[in-house]
Amino acid sequence: MTDTSPESLAERVHEGDLRLHELEAHVDGETAAAARRHLLESETGADLSTVGDYSFPAERADPNVENMVGAAQVPMGVVGPLPVDGGAAEGEYWLPMATTEGALLASVNRGSSAIRAAGGATARVLKSKMTRAPVFRVHDIAEASEVVSWVRENESALREAAESTTSHGELREVTPYVVGDSVFLRFGYDTKDAMGMNMATIATQEACEVVESETPASLVALSGNLCTDKKPAAINAVEGRGRTVSADVVLSRELVEDRFKTTPEAMVEANTRKNLVGSAKAGSLGFNAQAANVVAAAFLALGQDAAQVVEGSNAITTLDVRGEELYASLTLASLEVGTVGGGTKLPTQSEALDVVGVRGGGDPPGANADALAEVIAAGALAGELSLMGALAASHLASAHEELGR
Ligand code: NAP
Repeated sequence: MTDTSPESLAERVHEGDLRLHELEAHVDGETAAAARRHLLESETGADLSTVGDYSFPAERADPNVENMVGAAQVPMGVVGPLPVDGGAAEGEYWLPMATTEGALLASVNRGSSAIRAAGGATARVLKSKMTRAPVFRVHDIAEASEVVSWVRENESALREAAESTTSHGELREVTPYVVGDSVFLRFGYDTKDAMGMNMATIATQEACEVVESETPASLVALSGNLCTDKKPAAINAVEGRGRTVSADVVLSRELVEDRFKTTPEAMVEANTRKNLVGSAKAGSLGFNAQAANVVAAAFLALGQDAAQVVEGSNAITTLDVRGEELYASLTLASLEVGTVGGGTKLPTQSEALDVVGVRGGGDPPGANADALAEVIAAGALAGELSLMGALAASHLASAHEELGR
């Protein structure tokens, strides 16, 4: 009988009798992961006892990772309660955040407490659209124009093909772009509670077959980078991707002075010079202080695709003095979130989604992902307020020091 101990399996991989990714074909997920750890430990000298000390069945991670060796454990904390008056979110929310950045949750919690004292944040999903933009080859500009005309006249045929692959997704738009002999079609879908990248990709592949059979265009790549997934891109900032979501709040002067030890005027000046002028001078797509910090920590805790923090950082913070009050808003152009599929099914991540109260499909479909987007937006607004308050306060402190001399 073949020895299926982790040590023996590791040895067989080392000898080339077995391939690293084939272990699950011979043993269960736990043993396969243990064998890989054994191999890594003997080849690198690393001690992987903590990596191997995870608390969920390895099989639960089958759809999420290959060559599993264990789990990367990131500390998780929570901020809140954060009152959110949203289109889908309604009530007080705890927001779990996983991070290695000390002081981040303290900062966001300070902002949350100010928002709570102000009566809560308002939040709305303004647009919802996951995109996939294949690129086609055509002969020349004349042919490109012919393909674009066909697409404009036959969107219903593309919709029928795309929607045949999904019971939830709805094709909302197909926007053509032409560059010489390349034609890009940016497909935009309402993906309900799914982040939707797999759903949109599968649906678009089906629609591309119709384009190829009915026009002279030949598909070169199912993603032509005009989507744009996981790369900084102005198209996402302008057109949106995933959820375009905004949160705002009005704080009284007393509240600003009490919580942030500064004034609305100092915070507005810091925001204008840093987040607006500084970001413009830098050619940044993100006109904010630390939106990515909150997005990243919430994404890790809640099973979102971490690489899409790139799009999540695409956000503009505005601060204005309105009489004796401070108006603050944060608009995230492309926050890509889901409460079904992807990493949301993993055990700690689905527990964290339960903390927010948005695990699984919403009623109506899409309501849970909308609520999650609104809660993250409100949390990110809290982070903006806290950091801008701290920057403005230290400016004031140094000004006071200078004046006091
Ligand atoms: P998914 O796990 O592939 O699919 C989720 C599925 O859940 C949907 O297709 C839908 O099935 C079903 N579903 C059940 N209830 C739903 C509801 N209330 N609302 C919406 N759908 C519901 O997830 P995905 O969101 O499409 O894609 C996310 C994954 O894609 C992540 O793992 C991410 O890392 C990965 N990803 C893929 C690409 C790519 O190019 N393929 C790029 C980036 C990221 P029906 O469609 O049958 O209705």
